[in-house]
Parts: sequence; C-alpha cells; structure tokens
Amino acid sequence: MEITFLGTGAPLHVSRATTGMLVTADGCAPLLIDTCGGFELARSLNSAGFPLAQVRNVIVTHRHFDHSGGMMALFLANMPLDVHALEDTYTGIREMKAGCFPEWKLHPDVRHHSVHFGDAREIGGFAVEFVQVAHRVPTAAIRVTHRGRTVAFSADSLPCEGLVAAARNADLFICDTMCAERDGDVARNRTRDLMHPTAKEAAEISNQAGAHRLACVHIARFGSPQNILEEAQTVFQGRVDVPNDGDRHSI
Ligand SMILES: [Zn+2]
Ligand SMILES: [Zn+2]
Repeated sequence: MEITFLGTGAPLHVSRATTGMLVTADGCAPLLIDTCGGFELARSLNSAGFPLAQVRNVIVTHRHFDHSGGMMALFLANMPLDVHALEDTYTGIREMKAGCFPEWKLHPDVRHHSVHFGDAREIGGFAVEFVQVAHRVPTAAIRVTHRGRTVAFSADSLPCEGLVAAARNADLFICDTMCAERDGDVARNRTRDLMHPTAKEAAEISNQAGAHRLACVHIARFGSPQNILEEAQTVFQGRVDVPNDGDRHSI
C-alpha cells in the first residue's frame, strides 16, 4: 500500500497545499482522502503521476474548505464519482457547489455514500473504517486496511479517545500536527483554538495507540517542520516523518 501526500499544509501556508492524500495498492482502485483546498488538486495529482480523471473514489473527512475545496475541481472535471462523507460534510460540499457554480450540472454518476461514525465498508478493494474524532465540525478519522497493513489518518482533531482508537496499531498514523510546543505559546494556543494536536500530543497519541510510524501533516505557517520532527521524535518511540507535498510512503 502506498500513500502519496498531495497536500501537507494548513490554510494560508505559502509553500504547502492543504490536506489531501492518495492511497494506492495493487488490485485496488486509487482512493483519494481529502481534496486539498481547490484547483491545486489537479496539479498535485498530476505531479504525483495520477491524472485527476483516474480518481473515482473519494473520502472527505469534514466540511472545512482546506479538506473539501478540491471537490469543486472534481465536479468541474465532469466525471463519475463515489463520494464517502458524513451528511454534514456533504451538505457543506453541496452548498459550496450551489454558491459557487450554480449553473454547473453534476455528472449523473456523482454519488454520495453517507457515512456514519463507526461505519466499516469496502471501497475499491480497501477496507475502510470511519471513527468519530473531536473537531470544530463533525469529523471522521479514517482507517484504511489492505492485506494486513493499516494506514490511519486523524483528519482534524484534538487529542481524544477517538483519535487513539483511529490510530490503534496502525502501520502508519498520519496526524494533523499544526506546530510543536517549542514553537511557542502563540502557536500552541492557536493550535488549541483550532482544535488540533501539537507534535508532542501527536507523538503521545501514537504511543498510546501502539502505532508503528507517525507522519505529521497539516503544518501551520507558524509551525516549524524541524521543531515538529524533533519534538515528536523525543516522545514517540517509532519512526517520525514530516512529509512534503509529493512525498510517497510505502507500508
Ligand atoms: Zn478542520
Ligand atoms: Zn484542516
């Protein structure tokens, strides 16, 4: 199973696209998890060697624009889509479409598959689970398993029981780490207000969950990747990475 990081930044980052990743494996259909913040999705996918037109299966973790905005690119590409999202999330996507492109007709094969917390379903050959986490709007963390390997993605969440459950024994835990505590009080308080973990907290969750590897994404413009890496490494016993856009991890 391979994970390509399409966007690893938080909103307003000047050199990282916002959150999106593509999960691929032999015999499975590519699975897009979150869509970056807009039309850069097409560029990020293309740079990674996956033209936008190859995407069919999409999971959107929550309605925030930095995760859902690329749905507009997918809609405008006028292709069949199977979109897995909470009702609240898909309502946000529908309202964005209605507000921004009211004249555009959706492709007739765009389907919304409603997600409820605790759901487990097969998507394109992957076993996928949706776990409730704690954020400013209803949000689902994602676990994707294939041939005994699991990648878990926090979505956006404060440290909570759900986040530990989502990361449980994951071969790779991808966590929305905005900053390190050593980036200072202003950064830490902003991260807390926005309901995300710091690097120390992401590492503690990884330890509690027994995750094997941690990848820190959703990097804020006020977060230092070097500080995040070093702080997480001092707490978490497994391997830590702070991937850049376009990086690919195999598990
Ligand atoms: Zn969010
Ligand atoms: Zn976000």
